[in-house]
Amino acid sequence: PLGFIDGKIVDIDALVVPLEDRGHQFGDGVYEVIMAIDGKYVYLKEHLDRMERSCGEIRLVPSFSREEVENFCHQLLKESGMNDAMLYLQWTRGVSPRVHSFPPNTRAILSGTIRPAKVIPPELFANGARAIMIPDERWLKCHVKSLNLLGSVLAKQLAVEAGCFEAILVRDNKFVTEGSNSNSFAVKDNCIYTAPANNLILAGVTRAVVMAKAQELGYTVKEEFVSPQFYKEADEVFLTGTTTEVMPITILDNEPVGDGKVGPITRKLQEEYWKLIGKK
Ligand code: PMP
Repeated sequence: PLGFIDGKIVDIDALVVPLEDRGHQFGDGVYEVIMAIDGKYVYLKEHLDRMERSCGEIRLVPSFSREEVENFCHQLLKESGMNDAMLYLQWTRGVSPRVHSFPPNTRAILSGTIRPAKVIPPELFANGARAIMIPDERWLKCHVKSLNLLGSVLAKQLAVEAGCFEAILVRDNKFVTEGSNSNSFAVKDNCIYTAPANNLILAGVTRAVVMAKAQELGYTVKEEFVSPQFYKEADEVFLTGTTTEVMPITILDNEPVGDGKVGPITRKLQEEYWKLIGKK
């Protein structure tokens, strides 16, 4: 694994983050996670597009051009010597004595890591994983891929402590938004439901790819908020994400989803997604 900061490649454990980096002190920044498979990034353009949108939303002005960032991503993959890798990339608003408001004359800093992808047990992809539903206590700009992840961290920790793969989040006790770090889908009577891409969810790159594939295959996809009860009564539930891929959820709040087996639509979309990204 390698690290990088401000255009320089460094050892993964090098002590290089300035104490007064605003990412460090305020979580004042945005990020992306991008996979490489067989020496090629998967949906690099879509991730860099979203990173630009995230920067725009928090009024962070990148200090490298889009082309420079893209070239740097390719350079990192080459220098890492890896064919399959996970790139973590973040912009922070830069380094300055601590004040809440944007400091003048501060240059944004790009940093991150490139390392082997974390391995999700194949058994979970094959037979399905467990999830819990808990209140969504995050802020109201979930469409920004912000460094402020405390809401997601606390949610995921509850899931892990419950022996689950993911926490599926419920806003205002009324409707499901998404997973702590994935998008969520429910299937009922051959129709696929997922939350609309507004400020309450992160519009996942994988979500868009999977929705397009589902439509191409002739399924109806509805971007509508549905209740936690709807999820409990669904025929199938699954998650999508860059590292999550298409993950079947077969046990939700300790009860089987549908017949408790991976459903046909989830399985089909999982296989089609793997084909698209060239995963073997
Ligand atoms: N929602 C949230 C809150 C996430 O953190 C992620 C993972 N980045 C996703 C959805 C999935 O997005 P993507 O498919 O772009 O990885």
